Amino acid sequence: MIVTQLKWLPVVDEDLCTGCAACVEACGPKSLEIRNGVAELARPDTCGSEEHCIAPCPTAAIQMRWVPATGNPTRGKWQSAPNKERSLNSNPTSI
Ligand code: SF4
Repeated sequence: MIVTQLKWLPVVDEDLCTGCAACVEACGPKSLEIRNGVAELARPDTCGSEEHCIAPCPTAAIQMRWVPATGNPTRGKWQSAPNKERSLNSNPTSI
């Protein structure tokens, strides 16, 4: 079985984001940046999953979600999700 690591991360809806940077300023580890006029999670590794970016957003453009990720498991909230897809070699009927 393949196990995928999921991290609790902010996801920005670019259609709702105005680029005001309130979330950037609220983020202690500076994980977010404004790029091309919208907020982007530029450094997911540094995110502590603390959700400080959510409340300041005036347009509710950020939501926390479990996102496939790699990185330091001691920073932020993580969970494992079993991946039901099998590799070709895992089929017991193949030779
Ligand atoms: S606070 Fe909301 S609207 Fe402002 S930059 Fe961040 S995501 Fe965009």
